[in-house]
Amino acid sequence: AREEEEIRSDGFSTKEIKQIREKAQTLQFQAEVNKLMGIIINSLYSSKEVFLREVISNASDALDKIRHISLGDRSQLDSGSKLEIRIKADRQARTLTITDSGVGMTKEELINNLGTIAKSGTTEFLKTLKDTQDSNLIGQFGVGFYSVYLVADNVTVITKSNNDAQYVWQSDAHSTFTISEDPRGDTLKRGTSIVLHIKEGEEEFLEQEKLATLVKKYSEFINFPIYLWTEKE
Ligand code: ADP
Ligand code: MG
Repeated sequence: AREEEEIRSDGFSTKEIKQIREKAQTLQFQAEVNKLMGIIINSLYSSKEVFLREVISNASDALDKIRHISLGDRSQLDSGSKLEIRIKADRQARTLTITDSGVGMTKEELINNLGTIAKSGTTEFLKTLKDTQDSNLIGQFGVGFYSVYLVADNVTVITKSNNDAQYVWQSDAHSTFTISEDPRGDTLKRGTSIVLHIKEGEEEFLEQEKLATLVKKYSEFINFPIYLWTEKE
């Protein structure tokens, strides 16, 4: 039953999960990341929904980046690949998946971007925390990628950049993450898929109505189409 759950939760087969584990490289989060994650969880427990704003804004940034790159080199943007964001909830698997056809990340970028906090938004957030513990105020800041752990106990990031192979990043936020080349090859032509395995008690983030409301709220300043996958009853 455990194996079955794992296949369902991130779309990999048992064999592929085995291959990923065998090849996986385990790395430590920078100490600051662990600290930041703890702070996010403690201060934003009453505004968990901001995680969706963060993943949508990251997807939008990634789409902006590839669009910008393609202005100088059309071949970077293969014809027919639309610049868009797709969101899909799977209640049985307890997963919420956010996929973009943006710039993606190389292996090195994955390690640096999702393992350290050299990023402006997060630094500013940490600075603000020194002066306030007001979660409403904190919630207005770009708290970044790690806010996914407000609602997820396990996160898989599948990413493909034009400059590298497709990689799988996984972490349950307990101080380490793993990286492995995707045994399936390049299933994403280019871009990133964030698979959130939703925590016990946070099932509302798998509900169609709730997601539609949140997507509407957070898509206001996003210049790319966002599609919310709807399950036929
Ligand atoms: P910020 O967006 O302020 O830089 P985040 O914590 O939100 O900080 O994200 C960290 C970094 O991870 C981003 O700067 C980006 O390089 C990378 N990243 C996150 N999500 C994506 C994505 N969907 N596509 C490409 N890169 C991403
Ligand atoms: Mg961000």
